[in-house]
Amino acid sequence: MISEMLQSTLFPKTKKEAPKDAQSINHRLLVRGGLIDQLMAGSWTLLPLGWRVVSKINQIIREEMNAIGAQELLMPLLHPKAIWNETGRWDVAHEIMYKLKDVREREFVLSFTHEEIVMDLLRKHISSYQDLPIAVYHFSTKFRNELRARSGILRGREFLMKDLYSAHTDEKDLQHYYEMVKEAYGKIFTRLGFTTKIIEAAGGVFTQQHTHEFQVITPGGEDTIYYCDRCTWGQNKEIYSGKAGDRCPQCKTGSVISAKAIEVGNIFPLGTRYAEKMGVNFTDSRGIKHPVWFGSYGIGPTRVLGALVEVSHDDRGIIWYPQVAPFEVHLVELKTKDAGLKTEEIYGRLQDDGIDVLLDDRDVSAGEKFADADLIGIPVRLVVSQKTGDRVEWKRRDSEKAELLSYADVIDRLKKLT
Ligand code: ATP
Ligand code: MG
Repeated sequence: MISEMLQSTLFPKTKKEAPKDAQSINHRLLVRGGLIDQLMAGSWTLLPLGWRVVSKINQIIREEMNAIGAQELLMPLLHPKAIWNETGRWDVAHEIMYKLKDVREREFVLSFTHEEIVMDLLRKHISSYQDLPIAVYHFSTKFRNELRARSGILRGREFLMKDLYSAHTDEKDLQHYYEMVKEAYGKIFTRLGFTTKIIEAAGGVFTQQHTHEFQVITPGGEDTIYYCDRCTWGQNKEIYSGKAGDRCPQCKTGSVISAKAIEVGNIFPLGTRYAEKMGVNFTDSRGIKHPVWFGSYGIGPTRVLGALVEVSHDDRGIIWYPQVAPFEVHLVELKTKDAGLKTEEIYGRLQDDGIDVLLDDRDVSAGEKFADADLIGIPVRLVVSQKTGDRVEWKRRDSEKAELLSYADVIDRLKKLT
């Protein structure tokens, strides 16, 4: 995604103050920086800068999904009542569903997940064991009537999800793929810059087995998790019956720590229950019918956007990791006698070298430009001024050190960043 942008034309402008009702860090900084806008509680516009970040998050997820053989598609958001009645979830999941009727009194629900929709696709398009396994995913909007939508973009009533679904001939194949997805999720979260804990959680509707949640430990998290300070053991507070300080139930040597965390991903080994309820069968090599084994796997890119801000900021603003930053470079021009000719040249050369650059060409004070650069949080700030001569001032957002570098050195360092 190579592109350039003039800050004088960027929509919208940054804000000095956070909204009065904004309690969480991601809400305050993302709104002030002009990355997101709130329509109503739990409902957000991704503004141009915010959408750039989410697009980069999505691309990282997409690459890792494709690497495990999953195929991208796009499913509808308006679902007929009948399909949700087949599994009974029309009633069971009543509280979080946004249900509606059209003028002819037909009932619908806005997508809150897509298991039933995938099941319907499978029963129409597979018949034999030779058609399996299948893994499909999409990025799409989910609507959930969340009771509390207070944590900025971490909890939307309308939010983006990447949901992957896989179908298999037997439990072993499902388990094998489940482990592959777990590994792919680990790679995704590492590439995004997170340190995650994988913990066990309850299955939710229809799932007796435990599921696995990917949790980012941070004080801004809404979940409470328990994990061992020595081994890999971890559980959500919904299923753990002990307390912090207890001996680890798995390794029996470490002790249990509790922490606030954000659930960024969740994977579900669903088994055959959906297929049994919806009649999704395949025939084996002897012509005998069996229900398919099914798994589903979710990540919330818009929640990831908020979680990144919760874990990487300071009192001046956001500090983006290079791989997800809205731009790689924030080029700041301070008015020079030779009328900015040199800035133009550097701006052009950065673009030619394939760098995403935001140019602050505004006619405002140096102080205001630097404050906005810190707030928006692009990882590298380059300053061109009368003082920089034939060089450029380089400063990383996560450091206080400013250095004068030649253009060649700047490019060298930028190439090493991502
Ligand atoms: P939570 O426990 O936080 O309500 P959930 O367990 O109900 O979430 P899942 O159905 O597991 O959510 O959804 C998969 C992923 O989608 C989550 O791991 C999270 O990243 C994201 N997600 C879920 N609910 C929301 C929401 N309300 N706003 C933003 N992202 C969400
Ligand atoms: Mg979950």
